[in-house]
Amino acid sequence: MTALSSIQTPRAVAARLSESLSKAPRQLFIGGKHVDALSGRTFATTNPATGEELCQVAHAGPEDVDLAVKAARRAFEDPAWRRMSAMDRSMLLYRLADLIERDAHELAVLECLDNGKPATLTRLVEIEGSIKTFRYFAGWPSKFGGETLPVSPRGGLQILNYTTREPVGVAALIVPWNYPMSMAAWKIAPAVAAGCAVVLKPAEQTPLTALRLAELALEAGFPAGIINVVTGFGDAGAALVEHPGVDKVAFTGSTEVGKAIVRASTGNLKKVSLELGGKSPQIVLPDADLSAAAASIAQGIFFNQGQTCTAGSRLYAHEAVYDELVEAIAGHARALKIGNGLDEDVNFGPLISEEQWNQVSGYVEIGVNEGARVLTGGARPSGLDNGYFFEPTILGDAQAGMRVVREEIFGPVLSALSWKDADQLIAEANNSDFGLSAGIWTNDIKSAHRIAGAVKAGSVWINCFNLVDPATPFGGFKQSGWGREHGRQAMELYSETKSVWVNLT
Ligand code: NAP
Ligand code: MG
Repeated sequence: MTALSSIQTPRAVAARLSESLSKAPRQLFIGGKHVDALSGRTFATTNPATGEELCQVAHAGPEDVDLAVKAARRAFEDPAWRRMSAMDRSMLLYRLADLIERDAHELAVLECLDNGKPATLTRLVEIEGSIKTFRYFAGWPSKFGGETLPVSPRGGLQILNYTTREPVGVAALIVPWNYPMSMAAWKIAPAVAAGCAVVLKPAEQTPLTALRLAELALEAGFPAGIINVVTGFGDAGAALVEHPGVDKVAFTGSTEVGKAIVRASTGNLKKVSLELGGKSPQIVLPDADLSAAAASIAQGIFFNQGQTCTAGSRLYAHEAVYDELVEAIAGHARALKIGNGLDEDVNFGPLISEEQWNQVSGYVEIGVNEGARVLTGGARPSGLDNGYFFEPTILGDAQAGMRVVREEIFGPVLSALSWKDADQLIAEANNSDFGLSAGIWTNDIKSAHRIAGAVKAGSVWINCFNLVDPATPFGGFKQSGWGREHGRQAMELYSETKSVWVNLT
């Protein structure tokens, strides 16, 4: 090993980061400055692989949220931002993408420390995905305009009618802990591309990469106050949602909090978009390539320790292939290398917290009491006594109506069901409060498209799963949310359309 690569191993980077993090609490980032919470309060963020405290973080209250919203408003109204050319706005996003790329390794290790997710995978998937997201939306400012429309006025008036797109204003971005960096990128990139100013509220469990991202944005040249970060708990999120100075809320998180946000945002009728929970079906027909399906279905439920909104957590395997398929998925589950994500061969880390560990193990118990059978996993892996590790788990003999088939577990637990009647299969796959995504495995083109048309889901993957790209819309049917992120639709979420009538008579 060369001297350079030994300096840059995840463990070496982690040691350097931990040392600097332990020196002083991480502060809020408001108006381009690091500031303490007005109350002086802080809270601990911990490493889920060890359960140990990483550092203290400023604990924002409503008074800090108010300062952040006012800083965002000032920056939003500043002519330097409002009149900035589309190309100049693009360049800021490109520069931010370049800085994330420069610091990719460090950001991946920071996320690993704060969230537990394996550093190598995080760099490949989340950090690369965030870079791609900023580069994709960097192209939009110069392409997102209005239209000239052929209106038909009465009385022979000659009218020129055209539309313009204007930024919605100050956007509150509230994100969860499962993909902290990507969720921040998915929201910040289209919001600033559309010309908004933002206040980001990361989850209490994972505030560190969001704070780093705001620093990088300032380095990239974003005016102070365009990107603000308030770290804290649910009450800070609630203060944002209620704040009369906020024009739009973009939220990713649980369906329960999403509903509370809708209720709380009525004061000034904020525009609200929601990316919520899921319970996505993986539908396997008897002619499918079982080996490809098994590998992808395992990945689709166990990646990120199952803490993924689109996780394919309900398997519907045709009865003719059920045993073989489930055994093959179990083989992939047993082959995962579980451990501290700083070790480069680890591809399965801990759950985020003790609370989440209790939720996941509680659901396995509920499944067993309902009559399901643990085919693999179901407990803490032996030898990993610290941290919140839970084995990748398959519950066989699952039946429609069981809680483990209906409710989002948000952990590495696959509920496996078998089917024989195609019509009943569709009805069962759609028998869910959620509608985020679905996987279909077959080589029969007609069946594939027929099922794709029949499932109620925002994303459908045929012979693949969990592919996501900033060019194509992402979001849910039913209680999985409102609106779509990515693509042109994300630009629309952060803008208003104005229709201008000019009398030329
Ligand atoms: P959560 O409890 O709903 O929290 C999400 C965010 O909302 C956090 O920043 C949280 O702050 C904040 N918050 C809590 N109460 C609030 C309130 N009353 N008003 C405003 N903000 C509030 O979700 P989670 O447990 O962190 O994340 C897991 C959930 O997210 C799962 O249900 C998952 O399916 C969903 N998810 C969905 C998608 C998607 O795109 N559809 C993607 C990822 C995750 P605190 O952290 O301080 O509580
Ligand atoms: Mg939470």
